Amino acid sequence: MDGSRGGLVASTRKIDDSCLTSEGEWLAEAAGRIKYHAGGRDELPAVGDWVGLRPIPAGERAVIRLIVPRRSCFSRKAAGRGTEEQVVAANIDVVFLVSSLETPPKLRSVERYLVLARQSGAQPVIILNKADCAVDLSAAVNDLRTLAPEVPVHAVSARDGRGFEWLDTYLSIGRTVALLGPSGAGKSSIVNRLVGHDLLATGEVRAWDARGRHISVHRQLIVLARGGVVIDTPGMRELEAWEGGESVDLTFGDLTAFAEACRFRDCRHDQEPGCGVKAAVAAGQLDAARYDSYLTLARERDALDRKQDERAWLENKRQTKIVQKALRAMEKKRDR
Ligand code: GDP
Ligand code: ZN
Repeated sequence: MDGSRGGLVASTRKIDDSCLTSEGEWLAEAAGRIKYHAGGRDELPAVGDWVGLRPIPAGERAVIRLIVPRRSCFSRKAAGRGTEEQVVAANIDVVFLVSSLETPPKLRSVERYLVLARQSGAQPVIILNKADCAVDLSAAVNDLRTLAPEVPVHAVSARDGRGFEWLDTYLSIGRTVALLGPSGAGKSSIVNRLVGHDLLATGEVRAWDARGRHISVHRQLIVLARGGVVIDTPGMRELEAWEGGESVDLTFGDLTAFAEACRFRDCRHDQEPGCGVKAAVAAGQLDAARYDSYLTLARERDALDRKQDERAWLENKRQTKIVQKALRAMEKKRDR
């Protein structure tokens, strides 16, 4: 035996990552081989990754020697670095799309989260929280079942615990759940109730930053005492505005039949003449609200794409400037 262990990446930091192993939590750094051969940031360890570790003698540290191929992953384009992909969380089996029952459900927002879930490869489950103060529970449940007939819908209350027997069915040994949804929907409250009195679930963890200052970090991955893993990273919480991509078309698959009648093959079903989709709306074959929601998402996706192109261009310009400055400095020196 060479002393290698299996581990689960619980949080990622600038230099090292924290990994859970059967012998406790270890700090680990990706092997040089992984770092230097990574084609992009998506090939570096991410929260939720299963990894092979080799302990460093004398010290509770280890080297990450391999990353097990991911079953699913939530990613977003890394900010400020062109079109590079950054993995927010890996190997999520089930994603709870959480919204609040305090107000009627925002169907377009749920649709957007469904797009993200489908894109990741995780199974989406719609959770309507705050059932204890629902305005119209059965109407809300019906609306969502109509919106996504193939997705389970559960009404729960993180306050009084009703409906949680449903959530328990998604959590078992080796299964990983994550939560998505707008701020205030009750994601933290749901995690707290799922965790119960689990000691691992202290939420805020004490840590020290690079300058030795004491900071509080939010634990990003929680192993439940009775089995199951919950991932709750800030990255997941910020995902909403990102991505969309091809999944917009997947979510609106019913449009493709009408799109075959479009005059232009690359029709975006927006301002183009001879559009089969718009004709279907006019003929009452396609729900106008659904078409509107498609247009909103597609336009947002296009705007985001443009923004990212612009960002890549700016980054390019910034680097060119740095190089030019260095060249000028060298020339000055030479001329002196
Ligand atoms: P997050 O931003 O999605 O993590 O939401 P939080 O868990 O912080 O909850 C936002 C607010 O909603 C808090 O004041 C919670 O106490 C409250 N809340 C969460 N779940 C419930 C619930 O089931 N019923 C009621 N009435 N309030 C809840
Ligand atoms: Zn069209």
